[in-house]
Amino acid sequence: MAKQQVPVNKNETIHLTFEDLTHEGNGVGKINGYPLFVPNALPGEEATVKVVKANKNFGFGKLLELNKISPERIEPVCHVHCNGCGLQHMSYNLQLGMKMNQVKNAMKKVAHLEHVPVHPILGMDEPLHYRNKVQIPVGEKNGELITGFYQKRSHHIIENTETCVTHNEVINDVVKTVRDIANRLVIKAYNEQAHKGVLRHIMVRTGEETKDIMVVIVTRTDKLPNKDELIKELTETYPHIKSIMHNVNNKRTNVILGNKTNLLWGDEYIHDKIGDITFAISAKSFYQVNPSQTKVLYDKALEYAKIDNDDVVIDAYCGIGTISLFLAQNAKKVYGVEVVPEAISDAKKNAKLNGITNAEFVVGKAEKVMPWWTAQGLKPDVIVVDPPRKGCDEELLNAMIEMKPKRIVYVSCNPSTLARDLRILEDGGYGTKEVQPVDMFPQTNHIESVALIERVL
Ligand code: SAH
Repeated sequence: MAKQQVPVNKNETIHLTFEDLTHEGNGVGKINGYPLFVPNALPGEEATVKVVKANKNFGFGKLLELNKISPERIEPVCHVHCNGCGLQHMSYNLQLGMKMNQVKNAMKKVAHLEHVPVHPILGMDEPLHYRNKVQIPVGEKNGELITGFYQKRSHHIIENTETCVTHNEVINDVVKTVRDIANRLVIKAYNEQAHKGVLRHIMVRTGEETKDIMVVIVTRTDKLPNKDELIKELTETYPHIKSIMHNVNNKRTNVILGNKTNLLWGDEYIHDKIGDITFAISAKSFYQVNPSQTKVLYDKALEYAKIDNDDVVIDAYCGIGTISLFLAQNAKKVYGVEVVPEAISDAKKNAKLNGITNAEFVVGKAEKVMPWWTAQGLKPDVIVVDPPRKGCDEELLNAMIEMKPKRIVYVSCNPSTLARDLRILEDGGYGTKEVQPVDMFPQTNHIESVALIERVL
């Protein structure tokens, strides 16, 4: 954009035509090339907008009235303004298109890899009620416990909003039941400001295939009052409950789970199955939240990895060994590395559970363990990485380049860091062959992709 004066003023009412979407799903309209970002507006729409912020290079607006409506606009199933499902006003097709464009944009603008094919995103047939895990804050109103999501950009709980349309139905029901039982047993809610009270969060996790249920009660106090009654009522209500845990978080923090997790009833883990492999999952371990799409994602990762019986494989950021155990079925040996000790202990348990003897798991930071493996003489044929949103540590990317595997499969939950890391791998002698986005989080702006990278030098 050529240097120019900001063409709008704060509080001005303007007419705007929308042509694009930001990565958060806000509409983008331009006035003389100056972009304004407006929540809840879609490409092709025209609207009366109030300018709420006019920065030097871009501004923000509030939708006052839609004058032309996009055929891709649909009535949201849920009208709660939490921080969650911000794309519900878009048809699912538009959501999928928007996510794919973002992957393409990142490939072009960040990685300078516009020639690499980005395949059409793999979506769900029914893009609702997919989540297998929730963590719902508990508050109090007029002496009664309330549960629900926080209002956008605040810690104000919106009452009775625990039943989100992305959660599976069982989870919604269990959260309400735990709250109602706790209410009857007069367990007090945690008060964030005063750092007093007991019950902070209710976490529920389910196994899609097994129907197992885990409940984690998170409290500030070491003691959970009336716990025996709570256990009795819960287990009588839900025959599928396999695990009730008590997590203690006595810190003033936004982090949900504290360091101490005690078993209240049943096992310390629940089971689920993806494909032919059974997984034991404990309270603190990462496990993908959309089970049916997880299968789609892992199948693609496996296809890209093209493992044969002679291959030695590393699965970095392996969590509870989900991808590792899939790979181990075809490989000579798989090494997994993960920073959370509980997850590695689950991974080892999972290998045993499935009779898999060619997988080895190590606790540690992937970026530290990989150079150590290299020093030990480990030469992987294929490396799979599945890092958190911030992407791979540069040390890890360099370690991979040094290890010279013939193939790298990169599973990513953030297209920008994926593209940034692909650039580094490209400069280190690797070529990106293709990228497959998978919609793991319908109704939200999160984007998952798998990239296939091969050694060229
Ligand atoms: N591949 C697994 C987990 C992916 S999520 C699955 O599909 O289930 C990313 C994982 O990376 C989390 O389990 C997190 O605990 C782990 N992690 C985060 N930073 C790490 C690091 N520096 N080294 C190793 N693991 C890390």
